[in-house]
Order: sequence, then C-alpha cells, then structure tokens
Amino acid sequence: MRAIIIGAGIAGLAAALRLHQAGWETLVIERAPQRRGGGYGVTFGGIGYDGAERMGVLPELRRRAFVTRELVYRKPDGARRFSLDAATIAATMGKRSFTILRGDIEAVLYEAVADHTTIRFGTTITAVEQDADAVHVTLSDGSTEHADLLIGADGLHSATRALAFGPEEDYRLDLEHRVAVYILKEPPADLPAQTTGSISAGGRTFAMMSVGDGRTAAFFGYRTDGGRAGASLEELHELYGDMGWLVPHALEGLKTADSVYFDSISQIVVDRWSTGRIVLLGDAAWCVTLFAGYGSSLAVGGADQFGAALERHGHDVPAALANWEAELRPEAEKKQKLGRRVKEVYAPRNPLVLELTQLPLRLSSWGPVRRLIERGFQLAG
Ligand SMILES: Cc1cc2nc3c(=O)[nH]c(=O)nc-3n(C[C@H](O)[C@H](O)[C@H](O)COP(=O)(O)OP(=O)(O)OC[C@H]3O[C@@H](n4cnc5c(N)ncnc54)[C@H](O)[C@@H]3O)c2cc1C
Repeated sequence: MRAIIIGAGIAGLAAALRLHQAGWETLVIERAPQRRGGGYGVTFGGIGYDGAERMGVLPELRRRAFVTRELVYRKPDGARRFSLDAATIAATMGKRSFTILRGDIEAVLYEAVADHTTIRFGTTITAVEQDADAVHVTLSDGSTEHADLLIGADGLHSATRALAFGPEEDYRLDLEHRVAVYILKEPPADLPAQTTGSISAGGRTFAMMSVGDGRTAAFFGYRTDGGRAGASLEELHELYGDMGWLVPHALEGLKTADSVYFDSISQIVVDRWSTGRIVLLGDAAWCVTLFAGYGSSLAVGGADQFGAALERHGHDVPAALANWEAELRPEAEKKQKLGRRVKEVYAPRNPLVLELTQLPLRLSSWGPVRRLIERGFQLAG
C-alpha cells in the first residue's frame, strides 16, 4: 500500500513514520526548500504523548524537552508583577506532558523516518483526481504520482484541502488574533537560562522564552478585532513600540531571524476529514490553534491513531478513515471549544479583566492550590 503525504510538518512526518510502521510505502511532498524547524515552545502531552510512546520516539522527544524554572509576568516597562516557580509550572502540566520547541518535534520525527520515506522538497500539489482504486496527484514539478491514499498534512492554509474540499474561506474560523514567533540569532543576556518572561497589556502579549540548548524564542500575539486589515511584520514595531524590557531586543532580532512564523490565529472546521481516498490530517483538518495548546499533540496522536486504524482495516481504506475519524473527532472538537473559550480571555484590552484572568495563576503558586491542581491531574489521569 502506498500513500502520498503533502507537508513535512509534525503531522506529515508523524504520518510517514506511523504508516511505515504499518507496512506502507510513503512519499512526502514539502513546499519549503528544506525543513522549516523553529517555532515556539509547545506543551506536548495527551494523545500525542501516548502516540509518541507507541511510535518509539518518546525517549528522543523527552531528551530534547526543556524545563522552565521560572515564569515571570511583567508590566509593559519590564517591572515584575508575579511569577510561577518550577513546582507550580510542573503541577499545571501533569506528569505525562513536557515542553519542547516545535521544531525539535519535527526534527525527531524526521530523523526517525528519513531512511524509510522519500521527501521531495520545493514541491507542491497542483491537481488531484481519484477513482475507486487509486488517487492520482499532479505535482508542481510536472510529475504525476499514484497511490492508495493521499494525506493532506499541509497545515492551516492547506492546498490539498482547497483542491479536494473547496476554498479556505469555507472552513476557516478567524479567531481575530495574529502571532509572530521566531528564534533569536542573538539571545539576550538579561534572560536567565530556563526562564520565560511575559507581558500582557492593551490587547497585546509578548513573551521571551528560553527553549533549551542556549536558544531563545520571541513571541508576539495580539488582537486584530479592532479591524487591522493587511498583515505585515512591520506592524509589530508600531504595535509594541511603547513596551520596554526585552521587547526592543526582540524587535531588533526580527531583522536577522532565519525563519519567522507569522500568521492569523484561525481554526479549521471541516464536517468530514476525508473524501474517498483523500484525507486531511493535523492543522489542515482541525487546527485547534495555540489557544488550545494542543496542536502538536493532536498531530502526533492523530497520526498514530490513523496508522492503527489502517492496520485494523487492511486494504479497506474508506472503512479505516471512517473509523479513525469517529474515534478522534470528539477529542479535536473538545480542544477547538477550549481554543474558542481561551480566545475570549487572551490578551484582554481591559486591565481589570487582565487582573481577573490572571488571578488563578497568581493563586496557583500558593501551596494548597497547587496541591489541588496536582490532585486534579491525578484524578484525570
Ligand atoms: C514554521 C512553523 C512554525 C510554527 N510555530 C508555531 C508556534 O510557535 N506555536 C504554535 O502553536 N504553532 C506553531 N506552528 C503550527 C504548529 O506546528 C501546528 O499547529 C502543529 O504542529 C500541527 O502541525 P501540522 O503538521 O498539521 O501543520 P504545520 O506545522 O503548519 O506543517 C505544515 C507543513 O506543510 C507544508 N506545506 C504548507 N503548504 C504546503 C503545500 N501547498 N505543499 C506542500 N507542503 C506544504 C509547510 O511548509 C509545513 O512544513 C508552526 C508551524 C510552522 C510551519
């Protein structure tokens, strides 16, 4: 059995690995000229953790995970408001969960699968057709490929989805925020290792995060519901120009950053993730957004469950797709709901609302509350 996978991000590489383990041959098509890497620190847990364990990549992911010893909430001028220590951060994460740079998840999956798949970089999908027996894909280099299955793992702005399901506008729910993330070429001397600093004020959030191996990631996330039209990285200077602390350092670092992730925060809501032998996976199918803090975990866990469904159903691809979707959809929808709830309280414009939304965080560093949180995780686990 053979699958063509569009996109070599976390979902695409996890699918290539899991399908290889299920005895499938895979071809991965990636539009970027090389692996993209980068991104911000993400929480990895839930079905992603379970899936990574079954796929055998958990030890390497854990090895690259990083620990935050202190998370400091600051005022726009940099003055400390309050902080969470390592024990409190660990309590809010639970045991089967860790933080890791998004690009490191991609790197671990790539290293695990590189010898078992072909990855064609600098290439994209331009057309697709299918019949009862196979799917036929035309690529941007003019070649045509045939397979038993086409997996669209090409992210939020999926070309596979546009070709097989229809235009992005029909499926994209704009959560009215934008995000810019990048690794700084010159990490600031003032951010101690294993710490994160964060500022939230006037509908804008900034964070600087130490993400392991001496690397530092800068994060800007801000509301666009006030009617910001065209998206341009230039707007960061205008929007964040009044902030102090490490904001000027981060804005300077924007000029030299190798790769900047800059996008709207949007969910993808598709009634059915597959049509015939074409299936969507990861952000292309169900983007939950960073508000849910679960995109990478769902991508890996979703790929694992997908491979397991193919193993169960043998050559009956449509049955495997239906079975997999029935199993995974409730989890994806639950996280989408969470993402929409978090959107309402993320980066509030009103200072009073900010104080209220951060109150639980302030309280969480108090011993009895922290123990309650830990107990909650034990019960949930
Ligand atoms: C560079 C980058 C940085 C990111 N940083 C963060 C972050 O800091 N925080 C966060 O919460 N989320 C981030 N994300 C999103 C996060 O990775 C995803 O939510 C999650 O990992 C699910 O991944 P995915 O594989 O479904 O989609 P993605 O991670 O978006 O991967 C999609 C892949 O498909 C490729 N692709 C796109 N279009 C085509 C096409 N037409 N043809 C072929 N290939 C195509 C892309 O280049 C990419 O490699 C980032 C994504 C990228 C690409």
